[in-house]
Amino acid sequence: MAAYTPMIMQYLQIKADYQDAFLFFRLGDFYEMFFDDAIKASQELEITLTSREGGGENKIPMCGVPYHSAKGYIEQLIQKGYKVAICEQMEDAKATKGMVRREVVQLITPGTLMEGRGLSEKENNFIATVTTFKDGTYGFACSDLSTGESRVTILSGSVEEVLNELSLSGAKEVVLDTATPEELQKKLKERSVLAFSFEDNLEINESYQHLLSELEDSKLQLIAARLFNYLHRTQKRNLDHLQPVVSYEVEQFMKIDYFSKRNLELTETIRSTAKKGSLLWLLDETKTAMGGRMLKQWINRPLLQVKGIQWRQSIVELFMTSFFERHEIREMLKEVYDLERLAGRVAFGNVNARDLVQLKKSLQQIPILKQTLVAMGDEAAVQLAENLDPCEEVTDLLEQALIENPPISIKEGNIIQDGYDERLDQYRDASRNGKTWIASLERQEREKTGIKSLKIGYNRVFGYYIEVTKANLHLLTEGQYERKQTLSNAERFITPELKEKEDLILQAEEKIVELEYEIFVTIRETVKEYIPRLQALAKAVSELDVLTSFAELSEQRHYIKPLFTNERKVVLKDGRHPVVEKVMSAQEYVPNDCFMDQDRELLLITGPNMSGKSTYMRQIALTAIMAQIGCFVPAAEAVLPVFDQVFTRIGAADDLISGQSTFMVEMLEANNAIANATENSLILFDEIGRGTSTYDGMALAQAIIEYIHDRIGAKTLFSTHYHELTSLVEELTKLKNVHVSAVEQNGKVVFLHKIKEGAADKSYGIHVAQLADLPADLITRAAEILEALEKKDELSNGTSLSVASRSIVQEQRTSSESVVAETVIADEPLEEKSVSQEQTVTDQTEESAGQLSFFDEVSVSVKNSGPSKKEKRVLEKLTELDILDMTPLEAMNTLYELQRKLKK
Ligand code: ADP
Repeated sequence: MAAYTPMIMQYLQIKADYQDAFLFFRLGDFYEMFFDDAIKASQELEITLTSREGGGENKIPMCGVPYHSAKGYIEQLIQKGYKVAICEQMEDAKATKGMVRREVVQLITPGTLMEGRGLSEKENNFIATVTTFKDGTYGFACSDLSTGESRVTILSGSVEEVLNELSLSGAKEVVLDTATPEELQKKLKERSVLAFSFEDNLEINESYQHLLSELEDSKLQLIAARLFNYLHRTQKRNLDHLQPVVSYEVEQFMKIDYFSKRNLELTETIRSTAKKGSLLWLLDETKTAMGGRMLKQWINRPLLQVKGIQWRQSIVELFMTSFFERHEIREMLKEVYDLERLAGRVAFGNVNARDLVQLKKSLQQIPILKQTLVAMGDEAAVQLAENLDPCEEVTDLLEQALIENPPISIKEGNIIQDGYDERLDQYRDASRNGKTWIASLERQEREKTGIKSLKIGYNRVFGYYIEVTKANLHLLTEGQYERKQTLSNAERFITPELKEKEDLILQAEEKIVELEYEIFVTIRETVKEYIPRLQALAKAVSELDVLTSFAELSEQRHYIKPLFTNERKVVLKDGRHPVVEKVMSAQEYVPNDCFMDQDRELLLITGPNMSGKSTYMRQIALTAIMAQIGCFVPAAEAVLPVFDQVFTRIGAADDLISGQSTFMVEMLEANNAIANATENSLILFDEIGRGTSTYDGMALAQAIIEYIHDRIGAKTLFSTHYHELTSLVEELTKLKNVHVSAVEQNGKVVFLHKIKEGAADKSYGIHVAQLADLPADLITRAAEILEALEKKDELSNGTSLSVASRSIVQEQRTSSESVVAETVIADEPLEEKSVSQEQTVTDQTEESAGQLSFFDEVSVSVKNSGPSKKEKRVLEKLTELDILDMTPLEAMNTLYELQRKLKK
């Protein structure tokens, strides 16, 4: 194999350390990429792929971007989830013999962005690490370099929990270690579009030790250390703005798992993954970028401590009633710049004078904000005021030092005010005096020579000169001035005195620019010392911003303060779905009540498709979440428990990324709820069992309801189109039927969207199909089939559920490990209900209908809890009967009587 040229050898050597990144290799005015990087980059960036001789047998693929426009290209790659390693020339090429030394100066990754298009204002940009411990637990840490905040926690060991934390943090990049289990890696790749990185070094480095001081647990320190080791290895720049790492426990907050967060569209919608249409979109009335980010964090982590919630409520209430102060404060907040991100940029040294002027303007708002709060007189307002540290020293410094409208560049002067620095003033004086001297020289020379048009000018090449038109040259005496330049109609001259002054002026101006830069850097360094205080101020401002925003929204939308009790009771009067209400305007929205307590733990919701079942369920969950982040809620009256977790299975949001079937996802979500819910949780199950055959689905739905009823006791809203399930209320004391009402008008269904007690009487499926404009013939045919099926069902006198149950029981009997379900005398044959059209056209139905006669005297309950009291009594009676002593008629009568009892 032919040897590569030294430059390509150098490239390959460096590239070996950055296999997973595009290597931007600096060559003069370009960043070049070679080999596969070049091929891929040319596609991703749509730039021309060329090639060059590199000493090998074949030409080497190559593409490049000019260094001055590289930023845009880098951002494009980062946004697509790639990493870019920037490799610079470390020596002056002209002054070096042979190869210029080159080094990677920074690895830019999706999780380590600090500025530019890749960052959105109101979003954090986290990078996370997952550390795998031998004891089966996981360490989780995340850090936002643009704001400097870092958090760390230990997770109990389930992969789901790790995935939840990752999705809650919204991290763009995750750093794994070599011990990360395959299963987790696989799931991460399936479920997210994260960039992956690796770091094994757990040793704590001195340079960031101070950031770990608040972590008592050494395990937590190790987790954070691995993250910082990665950052230091890749960033190679100042990270002085990083705040001490804060530890937290997931148990401190309401848990909302990955599925539920998505289903409830808390921060983005399922369909378009856009913010618009989400709860965050509704709630976001914040005025600052920092407030926007804090709000998102709050929504992701609602509180569990009533005290914390009530503190937030008290502020919201206060601002709701103080209209003028609220408006004043929100106007002031508009003027507050992103202090958190600014602090980060101060640390890296890439702020300009304009940024600092904005910092000054932001800080100037703080004393007025404080005043307004204190003047409100309320204890909570005074406390908010106390949290606002105006950092007066910084304001004073910036007010004194910086001029009002400085240029973007910090290397061209015009930044610092007169009177701030004595040396600068002297240079400025010199420069100004020189200029005045020159202006007076012009006057003097005009008088001396009598040439009115004589003028003194300046250009970069010749400096200051005296210009005399050719027509006036005769008025000069020989040797009066030194000739410097001849133009077509004038001559330019200089004098030794003029040159002397020119030197002074130019020197002074050079010094001014240098000195202004120096002073600016000193100011920046001074501001740097205030970073922790600025960050604390940023937090306090964000909080004020979010809470006044809650107040604004609550007033506009007529939300009320929810009351929390320990009675595990939900009372919502005239509740509304906050987002649907906003979209459709309050006039059209039909408010609904919800009442749940110890005797009403589960609500089974029936009603036609499109009637509002899932809207109602989401409304309850969103109300609970809004309440626990401290916001007021859309209802006329609200009493709530503090929910520890919210679980949802709503809609058929197919998990396309993981390639799992809808039904599998449905079962995974259901299992997640069943395995983790407590009696203090809220479960929403929408149409569980829909994704499989009717009997399977119905059986599973019933079993799930029974399980939650008997073993968990969580507040549960369960919507279903299986009307058969409504009879479960007879057995399950804490289950109640409610339905969304609809009426039929002229053969068409009209949805009232009103929740009422009891079960729905029919499913209106065909009516909905009619509304969806299916062909009229098809609708008529469906109605015929339905009628036929309903007749058949009546004739067979059996129930679908009994058949479904039977098949389950048979399966269970054949399996020795499974619990053998009891066969009991039939509860009342399930209410005659219209079979929904989904059940109709399957062969299974036909087949089952044929088999019914064999089984119709026994219906099987798949419930493990045994027969009900009523059934027991009937059973006792049966055993007590002395059949041999009875006439056939007596036997018949008794049998009839027993059956009637059961049917009641
Ligand atoms: P289901 O779950 O019963 O199929 P949805 O909850 O999806 O029905 O509601 C269907 C549509 O009905 C919603 O998109 C909404 O526009 C409307 N809707 C639901 N609830 C209400 C309500 N309370 N007031 C007014 N419109 C409603």
